[in-house]
Amino acid sequence: MILEDRLNGNGNAQSAFHSTDRSDTDFDLGDQHVGTAMDTPMKPDAFAISDEEKMNKISNHFAEIMDILGMDLEDDSLSGTPRRVAKMFVKEIFYGLDPKNRPSISLFENKFRYRQMLVEKDITVKSFCEHHFLPIYGRAHIAYIANGQVVGLSKLNRIVDYYSRRPQVQERLTMQIAEELKQVLNTEDVAVYIDAKHMCVQARGIEHEHCSTVTTEYCGKFLNENIRAEFLQSIR
Ligand SMILES: [Zn+2]
Repeated sequence: MILEDRLNGNGNAQSAFHSTDRSDTDFDLGDQHVGTAMDTPMKPDAFAISDEEKMNKISNHFAEIMDILGMDLEDDSLSGTPRRVAKMFVKEIFYGLDPKNRPSISLFENKFRYRQMLVEKDITVKSFCEHHFLPIYGRAHIAYIANGQVVGLSKLNRIVDYYSRRPQVQERLTMQIAEELKQVLNTEDVAVYIDAKHMCVQARGIEHEHCSTVTTEYCGKFLNENIRAEFLQSIR
C-alpha cells in the first residue's frame, strides 16, 4: 500500500510544511523487518559493512566537508569533530536505521483482564528530518486497547525512540510506530499522535519558530469517533 492510500484510509496525517510530493519509488526498499511500503528507503547492502567501517568513512567525508567550508582541522577544537560526528550518526542519532537495534518486546498476560484504553503520553520524540538532517523535536502520545496481553510501559517509549532515531519524515514516523504497535501488541486498536517542531522550519528557510506539525494515525477501534474523542481528551 502506498503512503497516500494509508493516509486516506487509516488516518488523517497532516503536515503544515513538508511536501508530500514523493514518488512511489521512494518506498521501494524497507529496513528488512517490516515488509511494507512505509519502510524507510534503504539500499539492499545497507549493512554490508560494519559500524566501525561506517564511522571511518563518515569521519573522512565529514572532515572533507569541513575542509571545503574552509575550517582548520589542525585546530584543537575542530580536530576531533569528524570522528565525533561519525560516532554520533552511527551509534546515537541514527541507531534506529539498523534492524539489529529494534527493541525486543515481550508481552505478558493481562491477568487483571484490563480491556480498556491505555494511553502513554508525552513520550519524547527526537528525530531528524531526512530532507535537511536537522532535528525534529516533539512529543508522541500513543494508545492501545489491550487484547488480553499487555506490554511493559517503557517498551512503548523504546518503540518511539527506535523509529525516531533515523532520518525521517514525521508522517512516516507516525505510521511506522503505529504499525509496530499493531504487530507487537497483536491488535489493530492503536492510535499514535505526534506533535513536533522541525528545526528546518525554525532555523532556516521560512524561520517560523512557533509552529509545530501534528500527525496522527488511528487504527481499528480508534476509527470510531467516540473512542478517538476519549483518546484526544486524555492527551489534552
Ligand atoms: Zn526538513
